[in-house]
Amino acid sequence: MDSLIDPHVLLDPVRDEHGAIVDFVYTYVNDAAIGDHRLTKEQLLGAHFSDLLPSEVDAGVVRDYARVIDTGEPYVANSITLADDTHGGALRTYDVRGIRVGGELMLSWRDVTDRERTIEALADSEMRFRMLAENATDLVFHVDADGSIVWVSPSAEKLLGVHPDSLVGTSGVALCEPVDQPEMIHALNRMRAGEMTTRRMRLRQPGGDFRWVEVIFRGIMSDDGSQHGGVAAVRDIHAEVMTEQALERAVTFDALTGLARRSLALQRIQEKLDEKRPSGGTWHLLCAGINGLSRINSAYTYAAGDEVIKAVAERLVKVAGAQDRVARIAGDEFVILFPDLQTPADAALAATVVLDAVRGPVHVGEAEVDVTVSVGIAFADSHTAQSLLRDATSAMWQTSDAGSDSWAFLDGNAGVEAQRVLHLQHDLRDELIQGRVQPWLMPIVDLKTQSVVGYEALARWIRLDGNVVYPDGFLAVAESSDIILDLDAAILRQACQALTVISQEQHIAVNLSPVTLALADVSGLVRAALEEFGVEPTRLHLEVTETSIVTVTDTIVAAMHEVSDMGVCWWIDDFGTGFSSLSHLRDLPIDGIKLDRDFVSAISGNGEEAGRSYRLAQGILGLAQGLGLQTVAEGVEDQGQAEVLTKQGWQLGQGWLYGKARPITDFSPSLQ
Ligand code: C2E
Ligand code: CA
Repeated sequence: MDSLIDPHVLLDPVRDEHGAIVDFVYTYVNDAAIGDHRLTKEQLLGAHFSDLLPSEVDAGVVRDYARVIDTGEPYVANSITLADDTHGGALRTYDVRGIRVGGELMLSWRDVTDRERTIEALADSEMRFRMLAENATDLVFHVDADGSIVWVSPSAEKLLGVHPDSLVGTSGVALCEPVDQPEMIHALNRMRAGEMTTRRMRLRQPGGDFRWVEVIFRGIMSDDGSQHGGVAAVRDIHAEVMTEQALERAVTFDALTGLARRSLALQRIQEKLDEKRPSGGTWHLLCAGINGLSRINSAYTYAAGDEVIKAVAERLVKVAGAQDRVARIAGDEFVILFPDLQTPADAALAATVVLDAVRGPVHVGEAEVDVTVSVGIAFADSHTAQSLLRDATSAMWQTSDAGSDSWAFLDGNAGVEAQRVLHLQHDLRDELIQGRVQPWLMPIVDLKTQSVVGYEALARWIRLDGNVVYPDGFLAVAESSDIILDLDAAILRQACQALTVISQEQHIAVNLSPVTLALADVSGLVRAALEEFGVEPTRLHLEVTETSIVTVTDTIVAAMHEVSDMGVCWWIDDFGTGFSSLSHLRDLPIDGIKLDRDFVSAISGNGEEAGRSYRLAQGILGLAQGLGLQTVAEGVEDQGQAEVLTKQGWQLGQGWLYGKARPITDFSPSLQ
């Protein structure tokens, strides 16, 4: 008994004269009981219950205990609170058991005061928690370790428009907008690891709406470290976020036009600057300012001015092709971010298009105001977004100072150059149509016999004043636009015509630009030109540079075969300078190669370079002969070169030694 934790005592009943039990005497106490009474064993044994615990006797326990002796039924009382005399009369709570042992009462008890207090405290805190959870506007979730919702506060109804019960058992992740789900998964993982995290996210509402909330995730761990899911406390911050966003919009977007303001414009310019561009390519920024807006404001009203600004914004967006390519950077100034303005001429052309698009009347009330802009252009050259914008605006101010309805580059030279290219494009287009671009014929000879076997058609632009412009004066301009397609077609057609006036034994070689090869219906063009003049296809040769066939598409390969099947020959121009792989020579219908002028010019001298050119020419010749290709050496200027090439075994030669290109009229005055 002494080893038992709970106090045990044996009490012998004391009866009155009628035999009724009125008190008890301690006959046995175990160690726990001695400790609990805070008396010695000697003091306890033989003591009367009523002496030691008068309060309990007053509370009527003697009657309860007597029933155990009288009836034999055990006494079971839980959580009874008594003023404990052994503890200075403090109220304490006990679980008490009593049984009859012989004629005595065996009583044992357990002080459960602390347990009861804990239960009370828990009940209190649970009530407080419930009050919080159920009455706060915000929301509380309890999720299990898998992230499934175990419980959700009733405010779900108000915040999310769904009954809390319908959420129980569903996934917490599915509750938020898809964009925020990765965030949610991350937060749940951290919660499982016992960390506390705070996240902003959008919770879904029925009907496709959502609400911005801030969620604090807190993991619940038991003492043994096992995971019990966690609690997500949700704060509704929708109104807060909406206000923030509206503020941000007001800062980044212009209320009048809906266009991006300066800060966002700078960001977009920087993005354009960061883009990788093919080598050599740059990019141009355009800035447009409304001419005389302050005059409009004072002549009419500010409301009229606003109408003008709105109209200009709309016209700019239309010409730019997208709302986000235009930004309003100041009261009367806009920037336009065309995606791909690589050359000054592209930019200048875009500027004229902008001027045309904006120019026109705007109705303000009863009146009609004529509106124009001035356009400044700056090209992105190691610029920051800030400095590029500054350059474009100062170019714009310059032109609006000088007049209006015009464009200007910041750098005067760039402006002059762009203007020159634009004019050139314009003239070339015009005069090409008038037939002022013509092929001149340069002889190609048999190196052994010196007889002229054919000609190369070289384009010449005969200006109205009689000046002859060579390809280096117009080809780049033509190739940077679609003019080249018309130019190549015009030369091809005239070359076929020339075939009718030269000897039947001779051929003409026509150059095709890589652009034409890639974009035009070459076989259609060739067939039409041949049929128009009824010439034998075998008398037409087409020259493409080695570089232009490095990246051939299936379509190009097919077109080349089609042309070849007609009987037309393909020659590779400037051979030795590009990087055409040998597989091209095998897969493409190539009939001949033209050795680049650079090898020929150095071939006849002494010294290392001459030796290298000699060996390269020899190697290329061997390769071409091995493939059964015709071989032409270009740029033969003197007898020495001719002799070396002839000795090596080159079949044909072309160059000033044999004659320069001459107009067709030299061959037949009838072809004027
Ligand atoms: P290319 O096809 O390599 O033409 C040969 C160029 O070298 C011609 O210049 C010709 O005048 C020049 N040349 C020929 N022999 C000699 C020589 O012995 N010494 C020197 N110094 N030069 C010689 P051109 O006519 O100025 O043509 C330049 C380039 O323009 C041509 O180079 C060709 O790629 C292109 N081209 C000419 N006409 C057309 C055309 O109708 N269409 C296209 N797409 N390109 C053309
Ligand atoms: Ca050529």
